[in-house]
Amino acid sequence: MRGTVLYAPRDVRLEQRDDPKITEPTDAIIRMTATCVCGSDLWDYRGINPVTQPTPMGHEYCGIVEEVGSDVHSIKPGQFVIGSFFASDNTCPHCQAGFQSSCQHREPIQGAQAEWLRVPLAGGTLVATSGQPDDDLIPSLLTLSDVMGTGWFAAVAARVQPGMTVAVVGDGAVGLLGVLSAARIGAARIIAMSRHQPRQKLACEFGATDIITERGDEGVAAIKDLTDGIGADAVLECVGTAESMTQALRSARPGGFVGYVGVPHGVNLPGEELFYSHVGLLGGPAPVRHFLPELIDLVCNREINPGKVFDLTLPLDQVAEGYRAMDERRAIKALLRP
Ligand SMILES: [Zn+2]
Repeated sequence: MRGTVLYAPRDVRLEQRDDPKITEPTDAIIRMTATCVCGSDLWDYRGINPVTQPTPMGHEYCGIVEEVGSDVHSIKPGQFVIGSFFASDNTCPHCQAGFQSSCQHREPIQGAQAEWLRVPLAGGTLVATSGQPDDDLIPSLLTLSDVMGTGWFAAVAARVQPGMTVAVVGDGAVGLLGVLSAARIGAARIIAMSRHQPRQKLACEFGATDIITERGDEGVAAIKDLTDGIGADAVLECVGTAESMTQALRSARPGGFVGYVGVPHGVNLPGEELFYSHVGLLGGPAPVRHFLPELIDLVCNREINPGKVFDLTLPLDQVAEGYRAMDERRAIKALLRP
């Protein structure tokens, strides 16, 4: 099969790889319908995470089940499925508590930017749609594998409730879908922080009511200005830098919560400031599996359209261009069709 491999910073190639096989009775093999490039792939692509060996890339996927191992009973060949970027058994105490991305047996998904994928713990990880979805729903269903599930978790972790004022730090695909999630939950006011006009426009389509272009201390001041000096009830942190995390913490009102889903790079939280802020924190890799049934229903009933974050669609052959376009911020998110 053809699959994507990262060799060195900015050296990503589609090449011939071995077809995946069932190696455990809990595995499934799926034939990829669509996959995509994640903002977190760029940490590797840019060499911020060192690339020490040729690495199969991609962890967002949806497709048709081709084959299942002897212990997989909840899905069967021919079904259209979506799964999380962490495989999970969906039965251990952490899974039962709704934190499948902390599953005691979790395994990261790797190599999804390919024609075929082996999914471990398939019975716990994959969720099937009822019947074959219409083709125009594929981009939105694909987002549920990571980016939309992550934006949704940011909103849930920040305890967004109807009527609240919500601030979203980050205008990447996750931040934009955090806006969509907050709007869907019923936030009254959603302040998106973005300096890029096409992203501001999409944020507004997804439900943002205010746009702030300032960053850092000025961004915090702008949020305070908009909220009578109080701060936001809930803040979604969707970047992962020291600046964005500080900005998120300082934008929340006392008693507010920050949901943080940007993978941290160089973030060190000041204990004393945290103590006196009265701000609650919950974040981490999103338990996408927990939200899949609910979000699949919302997409299939056409109540949300998160697939709008894909502003570039390419054949898998052009995966390198997908990375380049996202790296240069020419594209918000690139969808790949094998
Ligand atoms: Zn588990």
